[in-house]
Parts: sequence; C-alpha cells; structure tokens
Amino acid sequence: MSSFSSGAGPVNEGHRKALDWLASGPRRLLIGGKWVNAVSGKTFATIDPSTEQALVEVAEADREDINAAVRAARQAFEASSWAGISPHVRARYLLRIADAIEQHADELAVLETLDMGAPLAFTVGRVASAAELFRYYAGWATKIHGATNPTDASRFIYSLREPMGVCALINAWNVPLVMAATKLAPALVCGNTAVLKPAEQSPLTTLRLAELIQELDLPPGVVNVVPGYGATAGAAMAAHPDVDKIAFTGSTGVGRQILQASAGNLKKVTLELGGKSPNIIFPDADLERAVETAVVAFCRNSGQICSAGTRLFVHESLHEEIARRVSEIAATYRVGSPLLPDTQMGPLISERQMRRVLSYVDAGREDGASLVLGGSRVGDTGYFVAPTVFCGASNSMRIAREEIFGPVLSIIPFKDEADVVRMGNDTEYGLAAAVWTRDVSRAHRVARALKSGRVWINTYAETDPVMAIGGYKQSGYGREMGAESIDAYSQTKSVLMRL
Ligand code: NAD
Repeated sequence: MSSFSSGAGPVNEGHRKALDWLASGPRRLLIGGKWVNAVSGKTFATIDPSTEQALVEVAEADREDINAAVRAARQAFEASSWAGISPHVRARYLLRIADAIEQHADELAVLETLDMGAPLAFTVGRVASAAELFRYYAGWATKIHGATNPTDASRFIYSLREPMGVCALINAWNVPLVMAATKLAPALVCGNTAVLKPAEQSPLTTLRLAELIQELDLPPGVVNVVPGYGATAGAAMAAHPDVDKIAFTGSTGVGRQILQASAGNLKKVTLELGGKSPNIIFPDADLERAVETAVVAFCRNSGQICSAGTRLFVHESLHEEIARRVSEIAATYRVGSPLLPDTQMGPLISERQMRRVLSYVDAGREDGASLVLGGSRVGDTGYFVAPTVFCGASNSMRIAREEIFGPVLSIIPFKDEADVVRMGNDTEYGLAAAVWTRDVSRAHRVARALKSGRVWINTYAETDPVMAIGGYKQSGYGREMGAESIDAYSQTKSVLMRL
C-alpha cells in the first residue's frame, strides 16, 4: 500500500489548482451572495482521510447563520430577478453551471478525492455526472407546465406548476458533488431558492461549486451554502419555520429526526436514506460478469455507497465457487493513495467509520459466518480497510441486516427463486437490488417481486439522470432524479374561473 503525502508534488494540473485553492485560506459561508464568517466566528477542519492531515479550516454555520441564509433565500425567492425570469434564462443558468463544472473538472475531482478519499478514477466520473445532472434539468426548464382541464361552458379550469419556495438541502459525505447537483439542479430549474448544507466531513467541492455558481451572476441569495454540523446547523434547517421544503440524504436514523423536526410547519420532505441491497446471482447468469460486478458493487467508494451490493445471494450449488472467485478478484484490489491512477480503493471517511466497519468483522465472526478475505485495517496511516468477504452468512446475521457502509460483503446461499425473493425482501431497507440471470421471464418476475426503489438486471450501480432513485420501506421518502424531482420541487395550483 502506498500513501499520499501532502509534501508530494501535484499529480496533475487539477491537483495543483486544488492545492492553490486550499492554500488560499479558510473557506467561508455563502449567504445572500456574500462570503461571510460564521456569526460565532467558529471554524472546523476538514481532514484528508488518506493522510489524517487537516486540509483547510471551514466556517461553521449554526442557528444564526441558518436564519440569515433562510432570510436571504426568502428575499431572493420573492424578487423579480429570480421569480420573474423566463424559463429559457433559467435553463441557460443551469447549462452554464454544467459548463463551469466541466471546465474545472480536474480540480473538482482532486478536491473531492482529497476531502473524502475516493480514488481519482471514481471522482472524475462523479464530476462528469454532476455536470450531466445540471444539463438534464436545464432541459426541463421549458417543459414544466400546468394543464387546462375539461369542464362545462360556464367555467374555465386550469392548473399552474409553481415552485415550493425556500428549499433546505442537507447532504451526506459520500458523493458530495453529485448529491449537491442532484438537489440544486431540480430545485433551481423549478424556480426555488436553496440553502445547501454539505456534510461536515466533506464540504469542499460543494463550496467550490458555489464559487463557480457565484461567477455566473445568479441573483444573490438564490444559492446559499452553509457547512456545519448536523445537530446544530442541520437541525436548525429542519426545524426552521420559513423553510418550505427539505431534501435530505443520509442515514435512516437522522432521516426520522428530520421528518419529526419538519412537522412544525409541515414542510414538504424528501429523504434518501440507507440500504442493505441484495445482489442475486442465479446459476444461468453470465458468471464472469456477475462475479466481477459483485466485487465492484461492494468495493466501490470503499463500500460507502447507499446502494452498495452488500448481500450477495448465490444459488447453493455455486456458493463455494462464487465465494472463491469473488475473493480472488477482491484480493487483487489495489488499496492505497486515492490520487494514484491505478488505485481502486481509497480510505474510509474517518477513524470513527473505520472502527465501526471493523466492529462488524467481529460481529460476523461471532454470528458464525466464515471470513474468507480481509477483515483488517491496511497500513497505519489513513483509514484504509481491506476488501472483506464473509461466506456462509445467513440473512439474520448482523452483517446481513445492518448497513455497514464499508467494503464488507456477506455471501448468502439460497435454494430457489421463492427463497431468494423472500430473503431479499426480509430487511427494513428497500433502496436497490440486482438480479443476474439469462432467463428473461425470471429476470422480470424477480424485479417485480423485490421491494426496492431500483432494480438492475445483469448490471449493478448504473445510473442515469432520467432514472428516479429512492427507497421503499425505511430507505426513503419520495424520489429524486428523473421527472420525479420536478414533482418533488414544484407544486400544483388549480384555478377555476366562472365565465
Ligand atoms: P448522517 O445521517 O449522519 O448525516 C447526513 C447529513 O445530515 C449530514 O450533513 C449531517 O450533518 C446532517 N445531520 C446529522 N444530524 C442531523 C440532524 N439531527 N438534523 C439535521 N441534519 C443532520 O449520514 P452520513 O453518515 O453522513 O451518511 C451515510 C448515510 O447516508 C448512509 O446511511 C447512506 O446509506 C446514506 N446515503 C443515502 C443515499 C441515498 O441516495 N439513499 C446516498 C448517499 C448516502
């Protein structure tokens, strides 16, 4: 394993720009079009999880800063400079944001890699996806409309599609830029204004995106960015009486708190929460692709993906063979400095997360699963954990029931289709699932039977902005992406006129 030292030279031009940006001083809050310090004057350090070194100090928003940001967002929402503009202009803003992301793609990818540890190969793809999301929603600007309704000759009934108002957007740390785009793009295209809080562990690419947006002369207060902690800044956003809509991505436990806090003024709420996704391999599948993809499904972003395929169900006739093949491939994964081009797995986000993930290795052993690969920290600097595979697991073990958010796979044998559908659905989550088979009828039958917001057939983790994501059961509330985000960030007004 090799480890990046901040003393090493930049790996590319984007890296040099990211280091210059970090060296240019503490980052501040964006409120009402101005970069300001927190009212308390407090800051917090963001840590590079591969070196454990602080990258930069960031202003720490608290209740008073949230109040100021919501006031700014309300003023911007009511002002004709935003509420009164043509959808064509709004589309152009979003297209220009997409262009700006692409023009700064290398820098943003390195910044995200430094801030949360994902390998560059991964963050380069995430930056491209963020630009694509702005472009996709730009196309919606001119297509969000109401309808005229059939009625008798004495009346005219029509509907208008209007924005929600001030949107509080709270994100998790694992794919920060894509998450910022997933919420900001539909919020803005529908005509809302935003108060956006990135996670305290990885605020940097959201702050850099806000700077790029600032350069495009959006009216002040349309986008406000307020890094801070969940219990203070996040809780103030969720409870704020002048926030109309809240969109949250994070853990199921915090999602529940958000829902309760938002009840005060009955905010419209969408929640993207945790998962424990089943990845099902039938004996007639293309086993080579299924096995290779199963490794990506649990190792991508060190397993810190809400839809990670962490329960691998394999037909009992294949259990030993697949356990061996999955372990052989996962054993070749290069774990190390996320800035090196051939690194496949970087560190986990924090020491706390590393300790938590390793505690599940003990839980798996205690519950009787067989550890066939990994199970330990890699190196002694940075929060690296080796790809970890348990076979002979059962669906009732803690490693199969609880979201670990690390590179830990449970391989669980099944007898037949009914058995695997039952076990796949036997979970409090319902975020994503995959089925591998060459039998077309079985593929669609199982896809229908799985209680999950997304099902992949013969692939894993592919996304597209057109495709809605979200959770059945305790994995979420409402949907994001695709046309569903337009519904989530707008509301219908019906008008009836007597002629
Ligand atoms: P988390 O719930 O701890 O934190 C998420 C965000 O909520 C952070 O910005 C945090 O500051 C804020 N927060 C914390 N407490 C709060 C409170 N009381 N009120 C308001 N805000 C609060 O989650 P995490 O550990 O950052 O992220 C990991 C989780 O996110 C996993 O469960 C993962 O599955 C989930 N996730 C889901 C999706 C999805 O699309 N469904 C995507 C990514 C991550």
